[in-house]
Amino acid sequence: MSNDRIATLFANLPIGRQVSVAGWVRTRRDAGSFSFIEVNDGSTCSNLQVIADRGLDNYDTEVKRVNTGCSVLISGELKQSPAQGQAVELLAETFTVLGWADPETYPLQKKRHSFEYLREIAHLRPRTNALSAVARVRSRLSQAIHRFFDERGFFLVHTPVITTSDCEGAGEMFQVLTGAEADQRGGRGEADKGFFGKRAGLTVSGQLQAEVYAQALGSVYTFGPTFRAENSNTSRHLAEFWMVEPEMAFCDLSGNMDLAEALLKYLLADVLAHCPEEMDLFNRFISKGLIERLQHIVDRQFIRITYTEAVDKLLSSGKSFAFPVSWGVDLQSEHERFLTEEVYGLPLIVSDYPAAIKPFYMRVGDDGTTVAAMDILVAGIGEIVGGSQREERYDILLSRMQKLGIDVDEYQWYLDLRRYGTVPHSGFGLGFERLVQLVTGMHNIREVIPFPRTPGYAPC
Ligand code: ATP
Ligand code: MG
Ligand code: MG
Ligand code: MG
Repeated sequence: MSNDRIATLFANLPIGRQVSVAGWVRTRRDAGSFSFIEVNDGSTCSNLQVIADRGLDNYDTEVKRVNTGCSVLISGELKQSPAQGQAVELLAETFTVLGWADPETYPLQKKRHSFEYLREIAHLRPRTNALSAVARVRSRLSQAIHRFFDERGFFLVHTPVITTSDCEGAGEMFQVLTGAEADQRGGRGEADKGFFGKRAGLTVSGQLQAEVYAQALGSVYTFGPTFRAENSNTSRHLAEFWMVEPEMAFCDLSGNMDLAEALLKYLLADVLAHCPEEMDLFNRFISKGLIERLQHIVDRQFIRITYTEAVDKLLSSGKSFAFPVSWGVDLQSEHERFLTEEVYGLPLIVSDYPAAIKPFYMRVGDDGTTVAAMDILVAGIGEIVGGSQREERYDILLSRMQKLGIDVDEYQWYLDLRRYGTVPHSGFGLGFERLVQLVTGMHNIREVIPFPRTPGYAPC
């Protein structure tokens, strides 16, 4: 079966050509001796109008019985449409129903459903306009990420999913057990044996392993799934999410910020240029003014401030926050939102955080109290990127790890990178779903990943 894609027909308008289209029925309307059937094949937000007349053999038995959700295959001639709002329509010469959908039980109807309702039918929601548009934009962004790095000479490295290093040290690692170990544990409450007798878990970040390859290939990136057992039900946290993590040898914090800013701008500009239909849909139905806000991000320089300046700004605002601010506390989402939405109105890069609230691998500054870390904050979401210059000095890294009680034996390989030919290097993690949220204007992160995993919830 080789069919024409509706998006391609709309783009090329091959009027007068014989075409064949397969897709799902959105609506059917009967008028006199015709039926008008709107068909969508997932390639575009717009439906193709099919005109089927009662001269068709199966008009009464099939055409007049199709309803929302049925899958159909139609061939015929593509005509210029007399109707407003659409350039072409398909005059059916054959009309085949491939799969029926019982209208009594099919959960999607013509009306707009709430996103909460659609989450309950994760296996059918990509058939809606909004969720299929999100899926196409997500696909476009994934490809654009690879293109961005490829154009700049970065190599893609596949970092492991099962690992022994909990690099964020935040106790958010899902543990991995073999079936036998899990049975033993459940049955007899035996001690924690882990993965083939060794403690292991699902990766929270590919960073440490990306550092290995950066210190051999120069500039690399990894883009894969990461897992965090965070029991938080927020609109921006998932238990399984995708992260884009570049890692660059011979690069300091300011080069790191430059790359992150360039990447975000490249991705936003790419989607604005190549997904106009989807962006128009989000702009009209999901977040008014979205396109203008994204263009603004592409056109302006991000603002760069230090953590100390951010804290001063928050303190001098006179605003009372649920979580009080003082130098040394981690910025909460209410603080991040206030800074981006009410103070600066632009993406904000906050750098030089207190060492005490950041992981062991970040480079300690000359003051001994801050680290060369940077977060990028955006309005509506908060943190979208977290990165740092890594500690490349063996003695300082070792003593920091010891102070934090990290099992140094487990990290000899990581220390070796500092023992042999160490170099200044930097990298960051861009939360892919938060990027998709930014681009689509979707309020909840559960809408921008095909199969969301949150505490107690993992459909399909
Ligand atoms: P947050 O403060 O929002 O919990 P984090 O500081 O714990 O994020 P990092 O360890 O810096 O996150 O991870 C890098 C990026 O990955 C973040 O900037 C964010 O975009 C994304 N990210 C982190 N945790 C999650 C999550 N649970 N779900 C989705 N994206 C996440
Ligand atoms: Mg977190
Ligand atoms: Mg954070
Ligand atoms: Mg972070």
